[in-house]
Amino acid sequence: MNLLIMGPPGGGKGTQAEVIVKELGITHISTGDMFREAVKAGTEMGKKAKEYMDKGALVPDEVVVGMVKDRLSQPDCAKGFLLDGFPRTVAQAEALDATLKEMGIKLDAVINIAVPREKIVQRLTGRRVCRQCGATYHILYKKPQVEGKCDKCGGELYQRSDDTEATVNERLDVYEAQTQPLIEYYSKQGLIKNINGDQDISKVSEDILAALK
Ligand code: ADP
Ligand code: AMP
Repeated sequence: MNLLIMGPPGGGKGTQAEVIVKELGITHISTGDMFREAVKAGTEMGKKAKEYMDKGALVPDEVVVGMVKDRLSQPDCAKGFLLDGFPRTVAQAEALDATLKEMGIKLDAVINIAVPREKIVQRLTGRRVCRQCGATYHILYKKPQVEGKCDKCGGELYQRSDDTEATVNERLDVYEAQTQPLIEYYSKQGLIKNINGDQDISKVSEDILAALK
């Protein structure tokens, strides 16, 4: 299956992506994770992307589109993929449609997770991420067994530099202005599966897997 997962920052895309890719045996592609890896590696692209990420702004379309196009051509995407955090603008969605057409493949569904804005700030300021494997936790809603340590690999948990209250509000404004119009874009293609993301993590996973059946 070739899937997209959409929703506001902090909507639970990464959390649910971990479950979906395991269940369906497909490849997880998170553009946010790819940028954070580039920042960590200190590449030119990473340095450029960091300027936008720290402000809560979007990295320019041409940079993101080129990066995703390269990633989709890698062999592990042939078994199916879940794009997480891409596309985020109508221009990115159009570029993705063109790329998939060139590759002779189609999207099977777009999962749209909805969470009210007022719940998001608490989710994002409490988010903790494993420095080693990228697994996501929450200080209240998804606690690791040992504080500060990843359950999966024992790596150190850290707080993302863009998960501060000021940046979160900017990211939500950017989401509403630039990314929300994609719900309409994919509704017109008959691909949207609307999911209530304001429920327990396990119930959200259940609803997503049921919607994909
Ligand atoms: P996104 O990838 O959409 O930005 P995440 O999956 O990283 O969002 O989730 C943001 C934070 O909210 C994380 O700390 C995660 O553990 C927590 N979270 C995710 N889903 C839920 C949920 N259904 N209820 C409560 N907290 C959640
Ligand atoms: P995320 O991990 O999805 O919350 O993304 C973190 C940051 O990376 C965003 O706030 C953007 O600055 C950047 N980013 C990730 N994906 C994209 C994208 N598709 N288009 C533009 N910027 C992106």
